[in-house]
Amino acid sequence: MKCTKVLSLFSRYLENDIDELTRKKIDQHLMQCVSCGNELLMFSNFMRIIKSAAKIKPPKEYGPH
Ligand SMILES: [Zn+2]
Repeated sequence: MKCTKVLSLFSRYLENDIDELTRKKIDQHLMQCVSCGNELLMFSNFMRIIKSAAKIKPPKEYGPH
C-alpha cells in the first residue's frame, strides 16, 4: 500500500469505519513506515482536538444574532 493511500484512509481507520483487510494493510504499512506512523499520531491528536472542541459550545457573543 502506498503512503498516499494510507494517509487518505486515516480518518476512516481512526473511526473504525474500515474493512478488516484494509485495516490490516494499514497496520502493516505503519509498522514499516515511520513517516506514516508520525502522520497518524498527529492526525489522531488533531481529531481529538476537533472532537473535544465540538463539545464546547461557543460563547453567545460570537454566535449569530
Ligand atoms: Zn507510509
